[in-house]
Amino acid sequence: MAVLLLNASMQPLNVISHRRLIILLSKERVAFLDERSQLEAAEALSGRRLPQGVVVVRLLRTIQVPRRLLRPNRRNLLLRDDQTCQYCGYVGAAAELTVDHIVPMSRGGAGDRWDNLVVACKKCNWRKANHRPEEVGMHLRRKPGPLTQEYAHIIFLRYPELKAAYEALLTV
Ligand SMILES: [Zn+2]
Repeated sequence: MAVLLLNASMQPLNVISHRRLIILLSKERVAFLDERSQLEAAEALSGRRLPQGVVVVRLLRTIQVPRRLLRPNRRNLLLRDDQTCQYCGYVGAAAELTVDHIVPMSRGGAGDRWDNLVVACKKCNWRKANHRPEEVGMHLRRKPGPLTQEYAHIIFLRYPELKAAYEALLTV
């Protein structure tokens, strides 16, 4: 069972544990978004059993989310770039993709900055080699920026079932 916590503004915030859900419910900080969840939670609260399946709850008051910066490691870069080569658009398995330094480190490019790192397929990385993209007629598909902890798509990549539940909610 997964519990998706939304801000009062409906922005996905996090996935929380049963225990945290019970605490938030008992403090009347959250509300359920559908009747079935409401019912299941009432049962959970009365101690009979835990809710089944996906539960979506919404905070009753908006909270400010601190923008926690993640490290631009390979895993996070693959998440940010949706496992897509940022030069040619090829979407591949993680093993088929490399991390490219836009300005090569040998030419003074930073090795640890979000704005100098992108996911590239092996072919593009080989073609680009020790060049800046513009020197070999290559272009980035979008400007690379930092990834922060609260980005909804990180949550949804890790929990696809929550993505479906959230999207269903927005289309009602
Ligand atoms: Zn490519």
